[in-house]
Amino acid sequence: MSGTIMITGCNRGIGLELASQFAQDGWRVFACCRDLKKAEDLQSLQAEFPRVQPLQLDVTDYDQMISLGKALHGEPIDILLNNAGYYGPKGTSFGQVDREEWRRVLESNTIAPYMMAETFCDNVAASEHKLMAMMSSKVGSIADNRSGGGYIYRSSKTALNQVVKSLSIDLKERGIAVLALHPGWVQTAMGGPGALISAAQSTKALKKILVGADLGKSGHFYNYDGSEIPW
Ligand code: NDP
Repeated sequence: MSGTIMITGCNRGIGLELASQFAQDGWRVFACCRDLKKAEDLQSLQAEFPRVQPLQLDVTDYDQMISLGKALHGEPIDILLNNAGYYGPKGTSFGQVDREEWRRVLESNTIAPYMMAETFCDNVAASEHKLMAMMSSKVGSIADNRSGGGYIYRSSKTALNQVVKSLSIDLKERGIAVLALHPGWVQTAMGGPGALISAAQSTKALKKILVGADLGKSGHFYNYDGSEIPW
């Protein structure tokens, strides 16, 4: 299949690779990024694939988000993929937590994806595929937490998972499926060079999940290989 996908955080990492692979498959890509002027790789992608449309969006700037929502009024969006994320400070073990940074991470990883869902819900409802997906992380799984620590990032993704669950219930009657995804441990600025898989490998696998998703899969948390992760 092909259609229209909107992805946040497309200037680098997994977001850039997603934009590239969907473009290669013939999709129209609304490729959002925080600073278009610095997004050279995204501009090169657009030069190669004119169906890639770079759009300026800091996901925590809600005035900008609402303006973009108005600009895209009536445009069907088959897949809304909330990929942009922020890890915050590395040392977030017990006794080392920076409250201001915690608030920033929650804003980017939890509140912003919810606001994207509110803003672009009508666009997704007007599409064929009707899918929203949130890039979560396995470290947000409460069942998987055996090592403690990581208070800031973990809690932001756990809260995002709860947003996914509620959205999957609230948007079901509009025919919209909502998924939480774990991309694997991926070689990006966030994952680091020692991570297990490349952004290309992660994206290839994630694409299968995104294209194959339907209401029956909604309200669940999937690893990039398609297996389910317990909440
Ligand atoms: P990177 O750090 O490489 O890229 C993060 C992207 O998010 C950048 O494009 C960044 O833009 C963007 N971003 C951050 N904050 C904002 C904002 N306020 N507005 C717009 N864009 C923003 O991370 P990855 O590509 O590795 O991660 C992508 C997603 O996958 C994230 O949600 C992450 O939490 C998740 N994830 C990643 C894992 C990994 O191993 N890499 C593992 C599990 C989950 P800018 O360049 O402007 O900062």
